[in-house]
Amino acid sequence: MADTKYIFVSGGVVSSLGKGIVSASLGKLLQARGYNVTIQKFDPYINIDPGTLNPYEHGECYVTVDGHEADLDLGHYERFLNIPTTRANNVTTGRIYQTVIDKERKGDYLGKTVQVIPHITDEIKRNVKLLAKNKFDFVITEIGGTVGDIESLPFIESVRQLKWELGKNCLCVHLTYVPYIAAAKEYKTKPTQHSVKQLQELGIQPDILVLRTERLLNQDLIRKVALFCNVSADSVIQSVDVPTIYEVPIVLQRQDMDAIVLKKTGLDAGSTPEMEKWKNFLQRKADATETVKIGLVGKYVELQDAYKSIDESLLQAAIYNDRKLDLHLIHSEKINDSNVDELLRDMDGILVAPGFGQRGIDGKLSAIRYARENDKPCFGVCLGMQCMVIEFARNVLGMKGANSTEMEQTAPYKVIDLMEDQKNIINMGGSMRLGAYDCAIRKGSRVYGIYGKELIQERHRHRFEFNNEYRRQFEEAGMMCVGENPDSGLVEIVEIPSLKWFIGTQYHPEYNSTVVNPNPLFVSFVKAAIENK
Ligand code: GLN
Repeated sequence: MADTKYIFVSGGVVSSLGKGIVSASLGKLLQARGYNVTIQKFDPYINIDPGTLNPYEHGECYVTVDGHEADLDLGHYERFLNIPTTRANNVTTGRIYQTVIDKERKGDYLGKTVQVIPHITDEIKRNVKLLAKNKFDFVITEIGGTVGDIESLPFIESVRQLKWELGKNCLCVHLTYVPYIAAAKEYKTKPTQHSVKQLQELGIQPDILVLRTERLLNQDLIRKVALFCNVSADSVIQSVDVPTIYEVPIVLQRQDMDAIVLKKTGLDAGSTPEMEKWKNFLQRKADATETVKIGLVGKYVELQDAYKSIDESLLQAAIYNDRKLDLHLIHSEKINDSNVDELLRDMDGILVAPGFGQRGIDGKLSAIRYARENDKPCFGVCLGMQCMVIEFARNVLGMKGANSTEMEQTAPYKVIDLMEDQKNIINMGGSMRLGAYDCAIRKGSRVYGIYGKELIQERHRHRFEFNNEYRRQFEEAGMMCVGENPDSGLVEIVEIPSLKWFIGTQYHPEYNSTVVNPNPLFVSFVKAAIENK
């Protein structure tokens, strides 16, 4: 095998330019050429991981199979590449410092002053190279934040050192923004020039520039950027706004970005791959004319990224059902028993979102009751599933005041309760039930028909669970516990078979839905919603 190639993706001018999407798209193109690719994200904040950040700070918290609470960009990496990521794919400043400080206490640096350079930068470099051990041809590393941030300086310095050490095996891609100034009727490249200059001051000459713009830029502008930034014109790529993030790989491929990367790293480009499956997916999206209306009920719906993986899973599922997704975001705090009919009547299906804490719970319960009583397809994910259980207990089993002990420790019927091994946990960070667990599905259930197999693995992120003491009562009244963990007996899936589609999962199926491999539960839910129209 040839040496592993390292590609670093940094961003400038403004944040939110889509470094994650560009990294995932480039990864996809290289993967389509037969290379083994992985993508990692460096986040320059001091938290050990984003697990304790709320969605207002950080958007969705993604979970890897090995139980790491990670940045949402890892979700993009998996959706694009269709391969799992792990803890090693997401590293924060906090993790780097924690390791270095632990080593210092152990005496690993005995006699030395521990410093940002070389100790922190060495630890950053070690984390980059760690991934190559898994025999990847390409390790793409996205540097969070914007060049010039104080926080990301040690990461940029590490990239500078690696570029020096690795030579041709290392490339730097810099993503910037080219704004359109309406008054002047012109696109402006000055911010890009400044951003590249800033990178150069830090010792890094980018090899490839990706310019994010609203519309296609003319070649004069491209040549200007090339000249001022010491980059050849064919290495200045445009990332023009497109209707879906899944078109970005095609946009980059049309400009030969992957071939340029191969050439610069000394590999033979050969012919451009077809990407048939990917293009089929895009074609189906483009061809869909009819819509499916899904109501997403949650307390963070006003935040664009809070339910990222659910949004993407629903979109994928709609496309595989040849429908346009018409997603309605319904704030759980604004739903109550008197307006629920008005808010949800037109929905073809309702998804009740995950979450933590009491806020918005009553609205979720109203939505679930409405779906159950009117037989509307309803999908409960994690807290959504727990609310399905609470609603059923209160309104079908007559257990007045039934609740989760997360909401009310002294509830008369603790139908959702803290897991036994959670009871003595003091630390909040990284201590939930996290990552992929086995789930055995009962033969003959609807969910069994959907997955088409008895044993599945799905990812978890929760502390509370269905209380098995009540299992018999639920089953006798028609809510079946059709999925359970074979080792612990924890209930992972509930369904009401007498309804058209009423399923709740304690796990998060949205974490493993990818473009070429959509999660079957989402596909089935959307299909049921369409049939319910
Ligand atoms: N708050 C619930 C628990 O911890 C559900 C978590 C979630 O929806 N991810 O069990």
